Amino acid sequence: MTIESILPIPNVFDAKRILCIQPHYDDNDIAAAGILSQLAKNGAELFYLTATDDLMGVVDVSLSNENATKALKRDQFAAGKIVGVKEQYWLGYPDAGDYNYFDLRRDFLKYIRLLKPDFVFAPDAWLTYEGHHDHIQTGLAAAEAVMFAGLIKIASSDPVVDSAYEPHSINGIALYHTREPNFIADITSVWEGKIAAVRCYEAQFDPQDMDQLIYALDTKSQQVAEGQPFRRGEPLKVLHTSALHCGF
Ligand SMILES: [Zn+2]
Repeated sequence: MTIESILPIPNVFDAKRILCIQPHYDDNDIAAAGILSQLAKNGAELFYLTATDDLMGVVDVSLSNENATKALKRDQFAAGKIVGVKEQYWLGYPDAGDYNYFDLRRDFLKYIRLLKPDFVFAPDAWLTYEGHHDHIQTGLAAAEAVMFAGLIKIASSDPVVDSAYEPHSINGIALYHTREPNFIADITSVWEGKIAAVRCYEAQFDPQDMDQLIYALDTKSQQVAEGQPFRRGEPLKVLHTSALHCGF
């Protein structure tokens, strides 16, 4: 008997309802548009939840916050069409700003209890050398919300959602932006679609920065696939929900 037999690494391809929690508008797609588009093609429903307003990264600083948000959403919807996102939700916490961790976690609990995903995607909060606090907070709050979704004494931000909640199980969490993957998704056949989706995020990258991002993604997708029987990959740390605590 091994611990892996008790808490097996869940198969992302079994996922039917996937909540993808991201700090900024583009993180899910930069990290995981390849595997997510494949899962959508397989019939999974994709829901994106964006924690911050992302306003600090908008290249055109002359835009009002209102117009910058419109541009961000335009880009996100265009990318979402390519990837196959069913619904987008936003929380609007200040990008790179001062906001409360527990407020964030309460909101994540709300959407998990409301949408009842069987799989959650989120950034790896334990990524070494991650310097962006939004990524660390979002990753950790997502992991905690996954663990605590069934503990109704831990309130979400919406009492109506909490009172209507009926227990459901989340089979796993897939952490992206990770240096310790245990699963490399083969994205060779969907690479062009992934790049088309990432290129939609025009409000956040001027053309030169976008080319650099694509070059970095191109290089990394091949690097992580070294030794695999395919050319391009996306690295994920996929964990059983119960493996999120005490090192199991
Ligand atoms: Zn980000």
